[in-house]
Amino acid sequence: MAGTRGIDDVSGENPLTATMQAMVCDGPGRPLALRTLPRPDPAPGQILLAVRACGVCRTDLHLVDGELPDPKVPVIPGHEIVATVIGHGEGVDDPPIGTRVGVPWLGRTCGRCGYCTSGRENLCREARFTGYQLDGGYADCVVADARYVFRLPARYDDAHAAPLLCAGLIGYRAYAMAGDARTLGIYGFGAAAHLIAQVALAQGRTVYAFTRPGDDEAQAFAARLGVHWSGGSDASPPAPLDAALIFAPAGPLVPAALAATAPGGRVICAGIHMSDIPSFPYRLLWGERQIRSVANLTRRDGEAFLALAATIPLSVHVETYALSRANDALNRLRAGEIKGAAVLTPGS
Ligand SMILES: [Zn+2]
Ligand SMILES: [Zn+2]
Repeated sequence: MAGTRGIDDVSGENPLTATMQAMVCDGPGRPLALRTLPRPDPAPGQILLAVRACGVCRTDLHLVDGELPDPKVPVIPGHEIVATVIGHGEGVDDPPIGTRVGVPWLGRTCGRCGYCTSGRENLCREARFTGYQLDGGYADCVVADARYVFRLPARYDDAHAAPLLCAGLIGYRAYAMAGDARTLGIYGFGAAAHLIAQVALAQGRTVYAFTRPGDDEAQAFAARLGVHWSGGSDASPPAPLDAALIFAPAGPLVPAALAATAPGGRVICAGIHMSDIPSFPYRLLWGERQIRSVANLTRRDGEAFLALAATIPLSVHVETYALSRANDALNRLRAGEIKGAAVLTPGS
């Protein structure tokens, strides 16, 4: 109800003195620190959420490693948040208390600029991102702008829904940029790739998975999901690609993917950060090949992907970790040891 501002405290605590546990990033190169902090208060337009699960994304590693410019310091990472609404800020009554929602990377935009008014809010210069410029979900509680959260398909439990919110959703934006490519190459077979490969296969495409050379385990994982071929990124696929999606943050994959792509094909770079791209001969780009990056997401991407995830039964592979073990999850991700996605489960 507009004008009311209550916190329906399911725990029975006094909302003015309530606290939460959070894993906090104090700056680059330092492990996250477990802290007890005051529980945030929802501002007008915001909702207060109890976090049930939060995915661990490669972007969180880039944040912790100081590879993203101008983060909020200190900041609570995490932008694949599955949570229950437990309070409303002023002017908000939807989603209702008790609703399960997902909080993605896109935390808010200006709503007025040329990008926002042309369906490209992902490029808004005033956009603010969850777990980077706004505190995120490596915590028991988080606040979010009510207009940017998603309802989640019921077929996924909390831990399995979490990776949909970035790996799935930004992966899907990259996949959509591949257009009607029949033969799709996916470079870097982590959280995003394992979801998008399943979407592509369900839509009848031929999928080739490229991993680090010699990573037999990742190649076997891709094969179990039904891809048509898997091999090292230095190998030649059975047929030229119509499009390549690069999910690994390694610049040398760009010329490698161009070399594997047919004339007229596209190479889509899906990560927020990539090491430098080495120089390469023009003949690799010649033949109307294209290179594109994917930046962030729009709410429309989220709605489209989550509607698809409600109809395609995606097999989401997760490793769950207690909140206090976030550093272990990040270290395993850095070492390339996670098959699928790592998910923190606050409260467990
Ligand atoms: Zn804008
Ligand atoms: Zn992410």
